[in-house]
Amino acid sequence: MDIKEMLQKIYEADFPAKVDLIALLKTDKDEDIEEIYQFADMVRKEYMGDAIYLRGLIEFSNYCQKTCSYCGLNIGNKKLKRYRMSETEILKAAELIYQDNIRTIVFQSGEENLLDIDWFVNILKTIKKKYSDIAITLSLGEKSFLDYQKLRDAGADRYLLKMETYNKKLYQILHPHMDFDYRMKSLAYLKELGFQTGSGNIVGLKGQTLEDLANDIISLKKYSYDMVSVSPFIAHPETSLSHIRNADVPMVLKVLALTRIVTRNPHMPATTALGSMGKDYRIDAFKCGANIVMPNYSAVEHKKLYEIYPNKRCLDENVGLCKNCLKGMAESVGRVIGQGRGDSLK
Ligand code: SAH
Repeated sequence: MDIKEMLQKIYEADFPAKVDLIALLKTDKDEDIEEIYQFADMVRKEYMGDAIYLRGLIEFSNYCQKTCSYCGLNIGNKKLKRYRMSETEILKAAELIYQDNIRTIVFQSGEENLLDIDWFVNILKTIKKKYSDIAITLSLGEKSFLDYQKLRDAGADRYLLKMETYNKKLYQILHPHMDFDYRMKSLAYLKELGFQTGSGNIVGLKGQTLEDLANDIISLKKYSYDMVSVSPFIAHPETSLSHIRNADVPMVLKVLALTRIVTRNPHMPATTALGSMGKDYRIDAFKCGANIVMPNYSAVEHKKLYEIYPNKRCLDENVGLCKNCLKGMAESVGRVIGQGRGDSLK
């Protein structure tokens, strides 16, 4: 079977065969890799159209109690100065996002057990009341069912919780004392509560095989998420994985492209991580499946401290500058900026 036939086969399959995905992940000839990207771009165009949606990101706290071994926020990093934005700072950032005509706010934080959920719920309610046409996405890590419910009742529309890897054994090694089953159960809770739900993986993790990546893609199809994020591992110097090589970019893009082909219509970001690996590879991501990008509206001092990996892009750039830059980037690949909330197509 040639590459095109194989791509057609995984595209049409209810569940693509693992062997096919592994064979595609193994491709190393430039023209074959290009075929994969082009097929993904075609699927993106057919299902998602040419709009690239902006999601305004607010990284409101870097406190974290978890042990994710790749992440610079993990509890073991005692060198990191911790912060939590005040209500006033959060509302100011939300206003800037709205003024920039962006209709999704993404709240992300470390997973802090000190977070006063009622305090946060009130902030969400204030924002939803003030801006009735805005969607709110949360990325706060694992919470109890009751907390998810409170957040949903406050008007949060979407929730991102990456499985990181679908290999439970590998998950447990990379996340000491954490529970893969609860992470997956959380995703089920979120769906049950009516959140548009997002998940995804990291490519280039220590100990991860091509079979693991194929299984990740198959599981992302199986759960039919509204949003799927595929991002590269970037070594953080203050973690136990500081000595591990950063992800191989073509492999990340292949996983992104194959995920688009197989899952068809979730929203998929060109992640900031892909924009932070020397060159801005978000452009390449837009050409092989991605249709979302997340300009950062955290203040410069907070952006620097929200260091999940080092050398995050545009760290010194003042809030609000991203938007024009991203518009230019979208246009350079023949796309337009999406208007409105850009809800799930599921
Ligand atoms: N506390 C939240 C948000 C975590 S940060 C949660 O647990 O869901 C968002 C994502 O950043 C993570 O899900 C992970 O996929 C990614 N990430 C963290 N550190 C990273 C690193 N060093 N390299 C690549 N991705 C990383």
